[in-house]
Parts: sequence; C-alpha cells; structure tokens
Amino acid sequence: MNIFGLWEGFYNDPWFWQFPMATLAISMAAFLLVATPWTIVAWLDPVSLRKYKIQQKPFEVKKFLLPSLGRILVNNAILASLLVLSWPLLKHTAVHNNELPIWYVILAQLLFFVLLDDFLYYWMHRYMHENKWLLRHVHSVHHRVRNTCGINGNYMHWLEYSLTATLTLIGPILLGAHLYVVWIWVIIRQIEGADGHIGYDIPWNPVHLLPVYEGPVYHDFHHAKFKGNYAGFLPYLDKYMGKTHIPAYLRYVQGKKRGLTAVEIEQQESVQQTAGRTG
Ligand SMILES: [Zn+2]
Ligand SMILES: [Zn+2]
Repeated sequence: MNIFGLWEGFYNDPWFWQFPMATLAISMAAFLLVATPWTIVAWLDPVSLRKYKIQQKPFEVKKFLLPSLGRILVNNAILASLLVLSWPLLKHTAVHNNELPIWYVILAQLLFFVLLDDFLYYWMHRYMHENKWLLRHVHSVHHRVRNTCGINGNYMHWLEYSLTATLTLIGPILLGAHLYVVWIWVIIRQIEGADGHIGYDIPWNPVHLLPVYEGPVYHDFHHAKFKGNYAGFLPYLDKYMGKTHIPAYLRYVQGKKRGLTAVEIEQQESVQQTAGRTG
C-alpha cells in the first residue's frame, strides 16, 4: 500500500487551501496587523505615551525582534506541516462554506469559541507552569521576555504554538462552523494574542470595544510576575479556578479606579515594597 496515497492530491483540493491554509494565513496577517504598529511604538518609546507604560523599565524590542520574527516563521512552517499531516482528519470535520448562519447565531458561536478556548487555554497554560518539564523546555521560551511588546506575542516554542492553535480549532470543529466564522474567530484570537503583549495601558486602545476582553494589562502582569493571570480573555478563570489572580494586578485595577496612572501605581508599589523591606 502506498501510504503517501493517503495524502495524495491534497494540494489539488481547493478546500485544503480555503480551510487550513487560508485560515493560517489570515490568522498570521491579523497578528502582524496589530503587533507591528505597537512594536514600532515600543521601539520609538515616545515620551507622550510613557505614562501609559504598564512596566516602567525599558522595553526589550531590539533584543527580541529578530528572534520573534524567526520564531513566527519557523512556528508557522511547522504548523503548516502539521495541518498537512492532519488533513485526512481535518477534511472530514463539519466545517463548511455552504450557507452562512444568521447574525445572532454567528455571535453566539463566536462567544462560545471565546469561552471554550479561554477555558482550555487557562488549564493548558497553568499546567505549563505547574509541570516542571514543560515549563523548562517549552513554556520558558515565551517567558524570556519580561517587558513585552506586540511582536513578542507569538515568540514561543513551536510545540506551544501548535497546541495553542489546536485549542483554537476545537470550538469551530465541534460546532461545524462556517469557514467565514472560523476566520472571524481566528482574527479575534490573534488580536488578543498580539494586544496582550503591547505593554501599554492606553484608554483609547480600540480593543476595549471587544466586550469580553480584559485588555493588555492582564497578561502583562503574567510576564512581569510569572505566576498567576493564566487566562487570555476572561479574568473569571483566575478568580474562581484556584485563585490564581496576581495580587499586584488587583492592586493595579484598584489604582486605576482611583484615577492613578500606570506610572503612579508602580511608584506606589515600589514605595510599599521598600517599606515592607525596611519595616
Ligand atoms: Zn506563562
Ligand atoms: Zn505572553
């Protein structure tokens, strides 16, 4: 038996190009569209935006720019190969390009994808911190950057990148979603992935229009403090699933409510730390 026959002709199948390959391309374009301008902003580090910087120490833009671009290239090449290998299974899923569902069904499906993906991501991410082997050999790559900028969002080990992509596809496969809905969903997911790393807490950031998303501060604290704030979109997971909220993040939110800027909150934190050390 010719085992290559199993994959024979996938490149002649238009659905192969529309479903896995176009989805991968759209996903990467969405990430770069958000990540690139914010990376340039972080590189320039304009004085007018410094008051919005979540961490006051300098960004590590130059040090991690080429490694980030390199990882993006390699990770997408590996993911594309894995999509080719899994094509015999993928092509039998109910994802389709027949009739589009009515708008409220699309909205409900997108909400379901966010809820499911965030739940699965929370547990995968938390496990990557709790399992010593995964932390040391896989997840530590993403944590090399403590003060992130947009392009660092996909700076990660290829295994983490592939697993994260797999989680993203579970919702659409379960519901047998329309291809266009899958595309909208991967765009939302990549906006979140890029925005979570921009390093700025800016009131006019358009992502605040996304109703369920917590904004870049949440994940920034994960990079700064390393433990806690494992969710991507929704803070309820860290609040209720084992109390993995980062206390400094909660103090930040309180500070914001009192009208303090990111700089003032960090100054207050360091004063308290000094008082704690000397007290
Ligand atoms: Zn982590
Ligand atoms: Zn991150």
